[in-house]
Amino acid sequence: MAPTKTQLSKLERKLDRQYESLLEQVRDALEKSENQQYVELIDRSPADSGDEATGDALADLNLAIIDRHVREIRDIEATRARIKGGSFGTCTDCSGDIGFERLLAYPTAKRCFTCQRQHEKTYAHEANPKL
Ligand SMILES: [Zn+2]
Repeated sequence: MAPTKTQLSKLERKLDRQYESLLEQVRDALEKSENQQYVELIDRSPADSGDEATGDALADLNLAIIDRHVREIRDIEATRARIKGGSFGTCTDCSGDIGFERLLAYPTAKRCFTCQRQHEKTYAHEANPKL
């Protein structure tokens, strides 16, 4: 069963909070670094503007200090796009339901638990080149 409207808005609020806190952390990191000029990228794109390209713009900077945050920001933007497009909550691999409990824990999850485990097994080498 796909998430209900109530469940969805709960997840959306959670995503919004995560998104804002990520932008805040990136802003902090940029201000403390030698990259203050990029802070305007964030100020220009408030979380509620509907502009989903902040993650892309930040990724273009290719700054190691915000790398992890940028990945999460893009994950959230992609998740919002899936919510808009109606494919949210559906596993990208098996088209099954991801399940609300899992989504509550990982709102940006693209796969159901089974496919995620399979995916991690298959791509373990790429994700951990040292192993
Ligand atoms: Zn699946």
